[in-house]
Amino acid sequence: MFILRFFLAALVAISVIGTAAYFLSKSTRFQVFGELVSRGSSQHPCVALTLDDGPSPKYTAEVLDVLANFDAKATFFLTGQAVVAHPALVADIAAKGHEIGNHSFSHPRMVGMSQSRIESEVESTDRAIRAAGYTGPLHFRPPYGKRLLGLPYYLKKTNRLTVLWDIAPETDPTNNSDATEITRRTLADAKNGSIILLHVMFVSRAGSRAALPEILAGLQAKGFTFVTLSDLLQHKNCVST
Ligand SMILES: [Zn+2]
Repeated sequence: MFILRFFLAALVAISVIGTAAYFLSKSTRFQVFGELVSRGSSQHPCVALTLDDGPSPKYTAEVLDVLANFDAKATFFLTGQAVVAHPALVADIAAKGHEIGNHSFSHPRMVGMSQSRIESEVESTDRAIRAAGYTGPLHFRPPYGKRLLGLPYYLKKTNRLTVLWDIAPETDPTNNSDATEITRRTLADAKNGSIILLHVMFVSRAGSRAALPEILAGLQAKGFTFVTLSDLLQHKNCVST
C-alpha cells in the first residue's frame, strides 16, 4: 500500500513538474536566468518588426524592397547555417540599416541541450554574422521561442539578451497562411512598444509576405514608426506622441 501511494505521489509530482517545465519553456513573459524582453516601452508609438529564419536567396531582396518602400527598419533573426550559405544577403540586410539577430546555427529545440552544444549553436552563428560584415548589436532569439534552464543560463553568462515577442499573428495553424487574417490580427493587437514576429523567408509563407506591406501601411496609418529592436529598447528614432 505504501509503495503504491509512493508511486502515485511520484507520478503526480512528475506530471506537475513536467507541465510546469513545458509552460515555462514557452513563456513569453518569464525565464529563470538572464534578461528577457517581449516588448518595449509603451511611452512611444513605435514597434519592432522581427523576421525570423533565413536569409533565403529567394525572398530576401523582395522583403528588403517592401521595407524600403515604407522607410521601415526591421530586425532579422537569422540562422547561422543560412548566414554561412548566403553571406552577401546578410551584408545587404545590414547595408539597408536593419538589425540582425542570432537565431541559433541549425534551428534546433534548445531545451535539454548540453552547454557545449548551446555554446556551439550560439557562438558559431555570431561569428558567421560578424564574418558577413555586420557590426551592430547582436541579440538572441531561441528557435520556436523554446528555452528552459541551460539556454537562459548560457545567455546570461555571456551577457546576451533573450528576445521574444508580444504579437505573433501566425500562431493559429487554421489561418496562418491567410494574409488578410495575419494583417487583421496584427493591426488589432499592436500597441506602443510591440515586438511583432513574422516568418517571411520560406516558400510556405506567401501569406505572411503578402501581409507585410499591409501591416506596414496599416500600422503607419495608425501613427506607428517601425524601428529596429535595439532602437525600440533604447527609445531611439521613435516619434513621441
Ligand atoms: Zn525560427
